[in-house]
Amino acid sequence: MLLQDRVAFITGAGSGIGRAIAQAFAGQGAKVALVDLDLEAARRAAGEIGDAGGVALALRADVSSPVEVNTAVEAAAGAFGGLDILVNNAGICPLEPLEGISLESWNHVLAVNLTGAFLCAQAALPYLRRSRHGRIINLGSVAGRIGGLAVGAHYSVSKAGLMCLTKVLAKLLAGEGITANSISPGTTETALTAGWDAPVKESLRQQIPLGRLGSPEDVAAAALFLASDGAAYMTGATLDVNGGLLMF
Ligand code: NAD
Repeated sequence: MLLQDRVAFITGAGSGIGRAIAQAFAGQGAKVALVDLDLEAARRAAGEIGDAGGVALALRADVSSPVEVNTAVEAAAGAFGGLDILVNNAGICPLEPLEGISLESWNHVLAVNLTGAFLCAQAALPYLRRSRHGRIINLGSVAGRIGGLAVGAHYSVSKAGLMCLTKVLAKLLAGEGITANSISPGTTETALTAGWDAPVKESLRQQIPLGRLGSPEDVAAAALFLASDGAAYMTGATLDVNGGLLMF
């Protein structure tokens, strides 16, 4: 078991990539807190993990709210006796053209995708410091690497900021034995992309050397590696999980 008895706090774990990460971690012995704005979705995902013999707790929190983040972190750490791994996965991706992005929407996307990760890192820090295996894993995006890919400007900017936050955290926390890394998925089959036009998705697929869009499990496998002892000497890095769509 790669993560026996480690405690993971995973945001946006009610669906898609976050849910797959929670399943992968629990399958390797971690106790997982599934945190989501949608408590019912988190409960369903936690229930599936419990049915499979894992240890999971569903919590509701809006990652853009400092109060709700702190409450959820305290609840998870209290229930499981600490916290070793933070996965900042919660994210939103409104498909809005440049001229159509209101200031409210711009601020909301930044608040969830970027500020939310900062708030979770701040709240989790005292626990990560006490862990001998402190890990922060942030879900970036290929859009944040290249300035957009069929998504809104606010989304791309939020992901670029998140990948920079990863490097900032990696530098500041390395001396305390905490690593911080990003995963940068390409287009992945989840609720976030389910509504995209089929021709857009097909055109993206045709540009992917491995010939298919990503699955949540593809991304979860990278998260599992970053959380494991095998990644102990990696920090400030970005793992690209995009089928070869873009090679850096
Ligand atoms: P998803 O929509 O399937 O899941 C996102 C989850 O986050 C949902 O359960 C949602 O309820 C939750 N959430 C939304 N706002 C929240 C908030 N304020 N507080 C707490 N939870 C909130 O999306 P996904 O595709 O699984 O995406 C997961 C992450 O991966 C996101 O950060 C996304 O930007 C990133 N990503 C996705 C793709 C893709 O193609 N699907 C590509 C690159 C990066």
